[in-house]
Amino acid sequence: LVALTGVNKHFGDLHVLKDINLSIGKGEVVVVIGPSGSGKSTLCRAINRLEPIDTGSITLDGQPLPSEGKALARLRADVGMVFQSFNLFAHKTILQNVTLGPTKVRGLSRAEADQSARALLERVGVSAQADKYPAQLSGGQQQRVAIARALAMDPKVMLFDEPTSALDPEMINEVLDVMVGLAKQNMTMVVVTHEMGFARKAADRVVFMADGQIVEEAEPERFFTDPQTKRAQDFLSKIL
Ligand code: ATP
Ligand code: MG
Repeated sequence: LVALTGVNKHFGDLHVLKDINLSIGKGEVVVVIGPSGSGKSTLCRAINRLEPIDTGSITLDGQPLPSEGKALARLRADVGMVFQSFNLFAHKTILQNVTLGPTKVRGLSRAEADQSARALLERVGVSAQADKYPAQLSGGQQQRVAIARALAMDPKVMLFDEPTSALDPEMINEVLDVMVGLAKQNMTMVVVTHEMGFARKAADRVVFMADGQIVEEAEPERFFTDPQTKRAQDFLSKIL
């Protein structure tokens, strides 16, 4: 579904993605882990073209990513993204946050968008908050709204960049549970996270990045119990 081939990206002199080759199949859940600064966020941002790449190619459904105009707006809808900070619109209600994209980009009527938004808010467990504003919700609730907002666009793939890192511990699981549910329903997902429990439970594959490179790729069980590279062994010994 998503294929990166020979992708390179620099920020000035800094080579942050080095010849990345990665393909993500439909329904696959890929967890990306690695030290700070290894390029995980840049990789995610490249997949929905928040970050243009220097060389190589990225395709979605076999098509190169568009770089502008309506096609780019459609890409952003097709590739849902959830960040560490929830980025909800503070002056819109929860329901309005979720219906905005579908009415503007997908062309749904207000009634259609409302109906599907309410169903999504129900699915992530915040339907009672529909008419409140983001500041009135807990971090865990806001993050679940951010997930619902991305899902409202009916995305082909969902990218999560450390979605639980900004949350208090007691709220982490309520967000991870929603993500595990999505994974079980065969959503294609790329998830940057240090939540190894999630990786073990939901990932089909773990991709370990260091210094802008993919150093190791394996099924979670194999990766956590028997990492093949010294870099992965060192990293795991620090976080497990
Ligand atoms: P973390 O775990 O801390 O989130 P990461 O693996 O997500 O790290 P990236 O955010 O992708 O790492 O950053 C990779 C490298 O690129 C880092 O050295 C970072 O400082 C640098 N970088 C990221 N964004 C920019 C930018 N807009 N301009 C310049 N350098 C950047
Ligand atoms: Mg990051």
